[in-house]
Amino acid sequence: MSRSLKRVLVTGGAGFLGSHLCERLVADGHDVICLDNFFTSQKSNVLHLLDKPNFELIRHDIIMPTWLEVDEIYNLACPAAPGHYQYNPIKTIKTSVMGAINVLGMAKRCRATVLQASTSEVYGDPEVHPQTESYRGSVNPVGIRACYDEGKRAAETLFMDYHRMNGVNIRIVRIFNTYGPRMHPFDGRVVSNFIRQALRGVDITIFGDGSQTRSFCYRDDLVEGFIRMMNGSDDFTGPVNMGNPDEYTIKQLAETICELTGSGSKLIYQDLPPDDPTRRKPDITLAKQHLGWEPTIPLREGLQKTIEWFKTIHIEDYRPPTPNF
Ligand code: NAD
Ligand code: UDP
Repeated sequence: MSRSLKRVLVTGGAGFLGSHLCERLVADGHDVICLDNFFTSQKSNVLHLLDKPNFELIRHDIIMPTWLEVDEIYNLACPAAPGHYQYNPIKTIKTSVMGAINVLGMAKRCRATVLQASTSEVYGDPEVHPQTESYRGSVNPVGIRACYDEGKRAAETLFMDYHRMNGVNIRIVRIFNTYGPRMHPFDGRVVSNFIRQALRGVDITIFGDGSQTRSFCYRDDLVEGFIRMMNGSDDFTGPVNMGNPDEYTIKQLAETICELTGSGSKLIYQDLPPDDPTRRKPDITLAKQHLGWEPTIPLREGLQKTIEWFKTIHIEDYRPPTPNF
């Protein structure tokens, strides 16, 4: 193996983002180990990689330690959609915290570089807009989103402490809403819900009055950001925001999806879940400065690609990961 080719572990590698990251790393020639417990994903996401000589799949739960020899670790294992992470909140926080401890221990032993898939949820329902990395957030520590938000915050703390105390090479990326093909059709997230509803011609469920905002990043842009961050300077640990700063209301998103699908679905309004953030938009100055990174795929183009993918799948091949759907 050439020196620039690495042994790379991707935890949560069979998931939406993980499977695209594995695909990219395999294409780049790295020796890739995908580790997943398939809570919110299925083997079909990585089926096309299974016969590649530089790809390996391990069924394992990241809350249990594992012993592998690797040069780089991308830690993505964690349910990401609110319906998934709220299904078993204790398991969610265990996954974030014990998963972080386990990958950091491995990174320390192997002298590997380890990247944490953190989240804009560390900002909670933000009082600062757009969100910069220096903003410390406004998280309700006892609310229904806390298992995820506080789990990811504790994971960031662990990453920084392993870095300061043990010199582990770390990277922390705060991901803002990212979408694209291979999102689980029953994840309950807004993009997958609206596209599935629009294609079936059923009512589109807007929570609240639809004035809350999100900024949507297409998955290819994010994977490029991950790779740049991992290969960037060891001095730039992050946290760094990664997301698309174009901000839309949820109602605008619903209308755009109806237009792109040609759907006659009706918009209906349901209760807003507790602690649902009101506004969200990343300030990506740091990512631009340090990594020369910014998103290139506008919402309509990304949505079009995602809609095309949703048209090709057989919905009955997908098992809803939780009865919350
Ligand atoms: P996803 O649910 O598709 O992927 C998560 C993967 O982790 C799944 O394959 C799941 O089976 C696996 N997993 C869950 N618990 C595990 C455990 N205990 N052990 C091993 N594997 C486990 O979600 P995604 O959108 O691809 O998210 C990937 C990562 O990115 C997550 O850590 C998530 O918190 C983070 N993130 C994603 C977004 C986004 O908008 N997509 C935003 C912020 C952060
Ligand atoms: N949402 C909605 N209808 C749905 C699913 C979600 O209006 O069918 C809203 C949700 O209340 C939130 C936004 O869309 O304000 C984004 O929700 P998602 O679950 O995708 O992710 P979040 O950013 O809240 O983690």
